[in-house]
Amino acid sequence: MEKEQYGKGYVCRDDGWWLSDSEEEFGFWVNWKVKSLLHQEKSAFQEISIIETEGFGRALVLDGIVQTTERDGWIYNEMISHIPLAAHPEPSDVCIIGGGDCGAVREVVKYPSVKRVDMVEIDPRVVHVSRKYLPSIAGEGDLDPRVHFVFEDGAAFVKEKKGEYDVFIVDSSDPVGPAKVLFEEPFYRDVHRALKDDGIMVCQSESPVFHPHVLTKVRRTLMELFPCVRTYLATIPTYPGGIWSFTLASKRHEPLDGIEERLRDENTRYVNRDIVRSCFQLPNYVRELLGEK
Ligand code: SAM
Repeated sequence: MEKEQYGKGYVCRDDGWWLSDSEEEFGFWVNWKVKSLLHQEKSAFQEISIIETEGFGRALVLDGIVQTTERDGWIYNEMISHIPLAAHPEPSDVCIIGGGDCGAVREVVKYPSVKRVDMVEIDPRVVHVSRKYLPSIAGEGDLDPRVHFVFEDGAAFVKEKKGEYDVFIVDSSDPVGPAKVLFEEPFYRDVHRALKDDGIMVCQSESPVFHPHVLTKVRRTLMELFPCVRTYLATIPTYPGGIWSFTLASKRHEPLDGIEERLRDENTRYVNRDIVRSCFQLPNYVRELLGEK
């Protein structure tokens, strides 16, 4: 494979090892052994690649950053979907911001109370490419009829909304490029307004090891808007450091009350009744970061 084929930010050694996801501040790189490049294009928003890895199956890569893999994408997708849905007493109207690999939406529709899912993804090409090359993540055939795609900037979309949704899932890429606005206070304020009075939102808030400033900023900002904010963790080998954080914010009720009973874990590989509770138990270094110790 030619070096140039790897595109933006890629450095590939002659033996097929590709160095990606650098955390340069820490002198830390994630290395992937790549078998082949299945697809690459430049969309209006980003460079989209599908690579076949040696051990993690196919991976979706945006601007040189691995977003999801066949080997462990389900961990992230289950954790960003089931926790907020089970935390809400009766989720009916759900909005996903980002989530172009379609893995989260496939978890959301497992909840029978859900009547509508608006999937607001800025880049239609991510959905198209994921549906074509990653069927084990994005699904095959027709998507559930409750799902409606809106191809628009999520920040612009929520500005127009008021009291419409029970749950917001902010399934964004890292806070650079088009996703940067999804980590800012004006966006969270708009999400708060777009939620119903008992609404809940969740966002991925990056690694507590490599991006503690992102996690603490997200948490601080949400605490100014929502009375109840909880951080939870999952182990996702693909992401740098393996430990990933999510931040849940609720407008009215304590999100953990009754969460186990409402969980739909018949067809899950990661979440279960013990996980929905234990994922909120934070190690001391994370508590310290969040000012809880
Ligand atoms: N699981 C992944 C992770 O944490 O790396 C992220 C999943 S998904 C692939 C992220 C999606 O967010 C991408 O498809 C990207 O196009 C989309 N996105 C980025 N900025 C956005 C914006 N402002 N509005 C809507 N979608 C956005």
